[in-house]
Amino acid sequence: MIDLHMHTSRCGHAEGTLEAYVAAARAAGIATIAFTDHLPLPAEILARDPHAAEYAMPEEQLDAYVADVLAVRALSAASGGPEVLLGIEADLHPGNESHVRRLLERHPLDIVLGSVHFVDGWAFDDPDRRDGYSDWDVRALWERYFDDLIAAAQTGLANVIGHADLVKKFGYVPEGDLAPLYERAASAFAAAGVVVEVNTAGLRKPCAELYPSAGFLRALRAADVHVTTGSDAHTPAEVGAGLAEAREALLAAGYDRVTIFRNRIGEEISL
Ligand SMILES: [Zn+2]
Ligand SMILES: [Zn+2]
Repeated sequence: MIDLHMHTSRCGHAEGTLEAYVAAARAAGIATIAFTDHLPLPAEILARDPHAAEYAMPEEQLDAYVADVLAVRALSAASGGPEVLLGIEADLHPGNESHVRRLLERHPLDIVLGSVHFVDGWAFDDPDRRDGYSDWDVRALWERYFDDLIAAAQTGLANVIGHADLVKKFGYVPEGDLAPLYERAASAFAAAGVVVEVNTAGLRKPCAELYPSAGFLRALRAADVHVTTGSDAHTPAEVGAGLAEAREALLAAGYDRVTIFRNRIGEEISL
């Protein structure tokens, strides 16, 4: 299996050295990993929410992050693997595109995950910001989140859409049939040519299931959207966590391949 989503302590809410993440991947028999720490946030988000300084590395650390990953990649290659890819997880809420584009252009990235963690500047996945759910009708929030996620895919900035139904993290799920929402997103992703990650962090959160859900994954398969896998590890112990469940979910949905990215070019490999 491959694990194309993990963080580093530079983001302010993850722990462990890069070497420890690599050693954990080696011990788990993972062939390829990608470091995908949070891309620095734009000034307007940082000004709006004092917590935001703990969501991503400061912009002045981006060059050092890239140097760290390239150094550990060389070290890992000289010690029997795993292959280490240079990635980033970029926030792609509306209005953030030029900021993201400017930072992405600076570095030779292998993979860019595009994620939506904010709706109107509200970090809806932050446990300390759960009070914000009381301001929303859950169905309206989901519609708005999926609109933003589709717009994120359409920017062309991301290779992979991260944790595609993150909005369910705390268990706020609308009543009724969600298939039309999933089908709308799946056809937009297919048209945009983005890959969707099966992210195992949801297994460790209150929603207690993979991102995306089984129903969403079926819609993605029906639209022929390609997929990859990631643990979203924030500690070395989480590297590779849940990948066996991800593989089972993918096989159940009819997938037999996952996509890996090098120099931002995708290649399908056997699951
Ligand atoms: Zn994320
Ligand atoms: Zn992440």
